[in-house]
Amino acid sequence: MAIKKAIIVGAGPSGLILALLLGKQGIEVEILDAGTELNKQPRAAHYASPAAYELDRAGVLDDVVSQGFHIQNMCWRKIDTTFIAGMRHDIFPEDYRHRMVVLPLDLLGELLCKHVEQQPNIQMKWAHKVVKLGQDEHKAWVDVETPTGTQRHEAEYVLGCDGASSTVRRELFGPEYPGETLDAQIIATNVYYDFEKYGYWDSNFIVHPTDLYMAAKITNDGLYRVTYMDTPGLSREEYIERQPGKYERILPGNPKPGEYKITNISPYKLQQRCAPSFRVGRVVLAADAAHLCNPFGGLGLTGGIADIGCLFDALMGIHKGLADDNILDKYSEIRKKIWAETIDPMSRENFRRLYDQDPDKARENDEFFQLCVKSETDIELAREIALGLEILRHDMTQYYHTQEKDALQRGNSNL
Ligand SMILES: Cc1cc2nc3c(=O)[nH]c(=O)nc-3n(C[C@H](O)[C@H](O)[C@H](O)COP(=O)(O)OP(=O)(O)OC[C@H]3O[C@@H](n4cnc5c(N)ncnc54)[C@H](O)[C@@H]3O)c2cc1C
Repeated sequence: MAIKKAIIVGAGPSGLILALLLGKQGIEVEILDAGTELNKQPRAAHYASPAAYELDRAGVLDDVVSQGFHIQNMCWRKIDTTFIAGMRHDIFPEDYRHRMVVLPLDLLGELLCKHVEQQPNIQMKWAHKVVKLGQDEHKAWVDVETPTGTQRHEAEYVLGCDGASSTVRRELFGPEYPGETLDAQIIATNVYYDFEKYGYWDSNFIVHPTDLYMAAKITNDGLYRVTYMDTPGLSREEYIERQPGKYERILPGNPKPGEYKITNISPYKLQQRCAPSFRVGRVVLAADAAHLCNPFGGLGLTGGIADIGCLFDALMGIHKGLADDNILDKYSEIRKKIWAETIDPMSRENFRRLYDQDPDKARENDEFFQLCVKSETDIELAREIALGLEILRHDMTQYYHTQEKDALQRGNSNL
């Protein structure tokens, strides 16, 4: 049955992309966000091919590419900057649209908001904090704290895109988010520093038992994301105090304060978690509200945006009468499986690869590095590796009813 209205809880990237996809199909969308503006913390910047595909469907990919850039290459190095192995992304034809694209999350958010503002059937409501939810056979509703008091908003579906500490998920399953917090602490910084002087590629991962880090270019004007490890259990202030010492020890050129310019710093815990189900009746979860992983390899939001693509196709199936409501169970089943079989193990392995091996022997011993070495002379293999995250995508339209399937079902019931 045609869906008239959906409520999206959370104006993070996943909620905004879902709003654009649904809004452009004529569905009335209300986005409710607890904050008064977009989150500015240094988080995602790299979006692999499954995310580029959905950004394209949402009609924003060209703007993302023109504000950001297509990554050319990424590699792994020893702490003295010696090259271990690399992956090329400059091996696609220029007009291949769904290459990995880079744009810091705060800029992506601004861009998505501008597109949302142009859709008359999408209403963006800041300072609207969802505190409770409920549902019956025909609709779902949320109770929302606003500056003018508590309100109830209702729609046919409530879509929880409200991030790691999701209220929607808590309302469905209680406070526990099944999974674990890894015994590790990372500090994400945005910094202007001349890594190119040291021969660094677009993205660089340093393999070292304690001083591992990532240095990746995230804007065209030379801003880098440097994410490094520190001792778990300290306060935010202590991490900020320790940053100059860390930089001086681990970065090429051993820079002192004054030789670089930090624009942002934030400590993060590393979590591997997944909700018990991504669907309960008329309430559905996606992206960080549904699952979490550590950021090495950029599987978090790329996986989240792949959820959004599947959820959009499932809802479109219902909206156009091509699928029953139980396609949302299929959505939950498929996306949970992709998290358990791919995102969780792959993100753990991406992290482990950086600290749990001898950097001097990694090029010969690490199976993934061996593939990268092979791809240095095999362009087809290089393309395959660069598109490795395509496995996060899943085509939900295959579960739509087809005339043939209906006829078969009718035939069987006449037997
Ligand atoms: C250091 C770091 C680097 C990363 N790098 C990458 C990367 O390169 N590539 C990648 O794919 N992923 C990366 N990730 C992961 C990525 O940042 C997250 O997966 C992504 O931001 C999640 O988006 P989201 O829309 O699900 O949630 P969020 O961005 O967290 O948005 C949730 C929104 O919901 C709102 N909200 C919360 N509670 C309520 C409520 N009760 N009522 C109303 N609104 C509410 C919040 O205000 C917020 O706006 C990285 C993460 C970190 C920490």
